[in-house]
Amino acid sequence: MRLCRFDDDRLGVVMGDEVRDVTPVVERLPARRWPFPKGDPLIEALDDLRPAIEAEAKRAPMRPLAQVKLLSPVANPSKIVAAPVNYRRHLEEARADAQIHFQKQVAEIQQIGLFLKATSALVGPSEGVALRYLDRRNDHEVELALVIGKRADRVPAADWARYVAGYAIGLDMTIRGPEERSLRKSVDSYCVVGPWLVTSDEIADPTQLTLSIAVNGEPRQKANTRDLVLGLGTLVELASSFYTLLPGDIILTGTPEGVGPVRPGDVMNAAIDGIGAMRVEVRAA
Ligand code: MN
Repeated sequence: MRLCRFDDDRLGVVMGDEVRDVTPVVERLPARRWPFPKGDPLIEALDDLRPAIEAEAKRAPMRPLAQVKLLSPVANPSKIVAAPVNYRRHLEEARADAQIHFQKQVAEIQQIGLFLKATSALVGPSEGVALRYLDRRNDHEVELALVIGKRADRVPAADWARYVAGYAIGLDMTIRGPEERSLRKSVDSYCVVGPWLVTSDEIADPTQLTLSIAVNGEPRQKANTRDLVLGLGTLVELASSFYTLLPGDIILTGTPEGVGPVRPGDVMNAAIDGIGAMRVEVRAA
């Protein structure tokens, strides 16, 4: 199933070039008041709601996909976890390019572990990226995004797949510079996730997915998740060894070689096998 959030927080099922509006199913979620629990209640309930979503999709009104505004399919992650330099050839390019490494030693992911992006940075593809610090290099990083489906605390690598609700395309937008990653990568709109969530039953082998991005039609990055340094299971194990992952938490699995700058007016087109493609406009904040 391909699940999207669109327009004014409507819930949709994507079928070919159309979106079925299944928003009435959201009424089944428990009504909540302050203080709201952490995590995303829709993703937490997804297994239970799935029969109702599928039934609603059969009779729901259709909208052409091209006419809807696509938001992040996850509304309320408690954490956005990200893997730095998790492709060997990106590590090599980062070490070779002073505009990426900024006189800091680029250590291997085995030493530095993971980092967090602010959840307030999260947007969907139709919202676009609003660049700040235009005097500095602002880069695209295309990545496979995992969406956690159930509470995961100290999960062994071999069990990782049971905790994943699905997959999406992630853009880990980045200001290059000397500051901590979490600062430079947490600017509003610097985490694009979309175009929808593909549930894990639809991706036969997430360890063999081609991912790519082009800017203004020019190919920039193209790689396959088989070349990840730390694989998907190891990433879930590592993240959940430090903090409990909650439903809706997002793991950005790392970007391959070919990162490069974007400027206001650019258009990014990112794609991953079995998920789809998304178009993201870049503007000045
Ligand atoms: Mn990244």
